[in-house]
Amino acid sequence: MRYIDYSTPLPKLVVFVFVVVHFPHRERHFPAAQGTVNNALACFSHMNPLLTTADSIVLRNLLHDASSSDDSSKARSDQISKDALAALTDDCSDAFETTVFTGWDRKVLPDWLSDKLLLPYILWAQGVVRRRTDVVFLTHIMLYLLTSVPSALMLYYRFSYTHAVGHWLMQAYYCGPFTLLLHNHIHNGGVLAKKYAWFDSIFPYILEPLMGHTWDSYYYHHVKHHHVEGNGPEDLSSTLRYQRDDLFDFILYVLRFMTLVWIELPLYFLRKHKRSLAIRCLVSEISTLLAIYLLAIRYPRPTTFVFILPHIMMRIGMMVGNWGQHAFIDEIDPASDFRSSITLIDVAVCCSVFLT
Ligand SMILES: [Zn+2]
Repeated sequence: MRYIDYSTPLPKLVVFVFVVVHFPHRERHFPAAQGTVNNALACFSHMNPLLTTADSIVLRNLLHDASSSDDSSKARSDQISKDALAALTDDCSDAFETTVFTGWDRKVLPDWLSDKLLLPYILWAQGVVRRRTDVVFLTHIMLYLLTSVPSALMLYYRFSYTHAVGHWLMQAYYCGPFTLLLHNHIHNGGVLAKKYAWFDSIFPYILEPLMGHTWDSYYYHHVKHHHVEGNGPEDLSSTLRYQRDDLFDFILYVLRFMTLVWIELPLYFLRKHKRSLAIRCLVSEISTLLAIYLLAIRYPRPTTFVFILPHIMMRIGMMVGNWGQHAFIDEIDPASDFRSSITLIDVAVCCSVFLT
């Protein structure tokens, strides 16, 4: 039987890399301390300051539970925490604050800049996105369109290795948060308000290849296959059949995805009698790869840095992420969400993970 030897370094290394890689993208979003939120955050000061307010509330509640033997005090703490969490996402609450950036807190801005630039932007952006909480998605869409696209075009117009390496590093920095944005987009059928639906449906086709994705394949793989199978035996990206503390198995897992997913996913849909999905995902995968191949013949150097390297990086990143998230799946009962999940507490990890 396959098992995980917890004393070997690989599982620890995977989790370590997983956590460290995602620290820089962590949201630093601390709404003004008010009312219930303030109460929930009181008393504890030794936690990771990079945690979001919501994470902090949950963790402090758990710490309170662990340190108290008084049931009524625990119940009171639970209620305060629940109220505080509800207030954070309630548009009408004083504690509600739109997230605009993922890398830094708006409080670091001088007041005049916040008043003249940031607040008008938030007011405008809240009318563009579908939910007031989603301004951060618009910020990132604009960031990528205003930096990645012109930078890529410039490389095709006038190539230099300095610019090419800089562009690739920028894309490496972007690809995690972009994939989180795309994850939200594919699950909700978009992130923008209805009147911007045309733009909402177009921008992924521009940004996906620049970030290393192929057109629509994330949707087919993740929503139509991965969530359906839930890491079980039929899931093509399940870690179930691999020795999860073995580097060789890990390399096999990554190589299998990188070289075979273009055909394995359509075959999976055919096995499930979903012929339309099989054809659509094969066409989207092949058309993207063919477009990159044709560009590479005509413009080998810019295409290498603009499309090929981000594509390789993204595919490796997605498999590393999936291995890290699902390395502890239970062979005895893989369908159980409880036996196959891990819970990480007091680590800043959720903001930019690769979701595969
Ligand atoms: Zn998902």
